[in-house]
Amino acid sequence: MAVDQETLQQLVESVARFVRERLVPLEDRVAREDAVPADVVAEMAGLGLFGLSIPEEYGGLGLNMSEEVQVAFELGKTSPAFRSLIGTNNGIGSHGLIMDGTEEQKQRYLPRLARGELIGAFALTEPGSGSDAASLSTSAERDGNGYVLNGTKRYITNAPQAGLFTVFARTDPGKPGADGISAFLVEAGTRGLSLGHADRKMGQQGAHTCDVILDDCRVSGDALLGASEGVGFKTAMKVLDRGRIHISAVCVAVAERLIEDSLRYAAEREQFGRPIAEFQLVQAMLADSRAEAYAARCMVEETARRRDAGRNVTIEASCCKMFASEMVGRVADRAVQIHGGAGYMAEYGVERFYRDVRLFRIYEGTTQIQQLVIARNMLKEIAQE
Ligand SMILES: Cc1cc2nc3c(=O)[nH]c(=O)nc-3n(C[C@H](O)[C@H](O)[C@H](O)COP(=O)(O)OP(=O)(O)OC[C@H]3O[C@@H](n4cnc5c(N)ncnc54)[C@H](O)[C@@H]3O)c2cc1C
Repeated sequence: MAVDQETLQQLVESVARFVRERLVPLEDRVAREDAVPADVVAEMAGLGLFGLSIPEEYGGLGLNMSEEVQVAFELGKTSPAFRSLIGTNNGIGSHGLIMDGTEEQKQRYLPRLARGELIGAFALTEPGSGSDAASLSTSAERDGNGYVLNGTKRYITNAPQAGLFTVFARTDPGKPGADGISAFLVEAGTRGLSLGHADRKMGQQGAHTCDVILDDCRVSGDALLGASEGVGFKTAMKVLDRGRIHISAVCVAVAERLIEDSLRYAAEREQFGRPIAEFQLVQAMLADSRAEAYAARCMVEETARRRDAGRNVTIEASCCKMFASEMVGRVADRAVQIHGGAGYMAEYGVERFYRDVRLFRIYEGTTQIQQLVIARNMLKEIAQE
């Protein structure tokens, strides 16, 4: 355990209460205004949510993976846009730094990331490189004791709010693929770094993405993550491995929320003189959703436990991401069905979740990429026998 059981219990209960009392009532407004109110962001910071997984010595709560997923199981029971706000600081926007940063880099940024004073973003994807991330073309040319970055990064979560970008760029153009890639810590406001227009998305309004453009963006030598060239891609993959467990926990939470909403609706809505919950065909939808969400919860908990025990969980993390993100898609679809016409109307919110959860099958590695990761590692396992 990274924190004692009682502290964890209190944190999980506080987050559950915060979600129920503060966030759920704001879901519709956040979707309409495409913004999370500033006072809510401040309350999230006050609860320590920006620093859940940042080590205590840098001002975070230092939760291990098992503890973090317990919090995500509660935080995810509302619009995913709220979670997205703190998601990068606890995941892809800080963990490269935590795993591979120099002590000086950690001291410089982690305390502010933990307090939510600085928002971190992870800039890997480009217009020409998504699933095939190792083919990225953003360049980082050495210039004296610094580097000059050129390229465009696409769909970068929290980029409009970010103060710190972990940018993946090619330091060695002679080495194609992963080996020539390095990671850089680039601060917002650095000359040559600019942002594109905010993307108009299918769902998750309130969470923002945009292009990050690097045009002769000069950074000093100490912006090189971990002071090592050529290891950036490994850093990115380690960060994504971990992030997949967190995203899977959020999928479980959204599914549980939708099952609860569907159950209540089915118990109240009457047709043919009785609540629709009494019809076995409706019960089948509820039962399938419950069983699938439970299976995903067990997978996430077990994978988190294995990771905390120091085991390699690349296969398991991809299994979780694949199963949980597909599962929540099916659950959201059934939730719309159980709500009938009301499920199609904005007023009930179910259609919003239906759109929101579609993203989980795409980012941090599509379902197809998870399948490839699982199968590739299975083949490695038999080759080692
Ligand atoms: C809202 C949002 C937020 C995002 N946030 C970030 C972020 O913060 N940082 C960041 O770096 N990126 C981010 N991304 C990018 C995201 O990770 C990519 O969109 C994703 O990895 C897929 O890449 P792509 O869009 O280029 O699709 P493509 O790679 O072009 O894939 C298109 C289709 O082809 C399939 N496909 C591709 N290769 C294979 C293959 N070998 N075998 C079988 N099928 C294949 C894919 O599964 C998919 O179905 C975000 C994206 C979105 C939409």
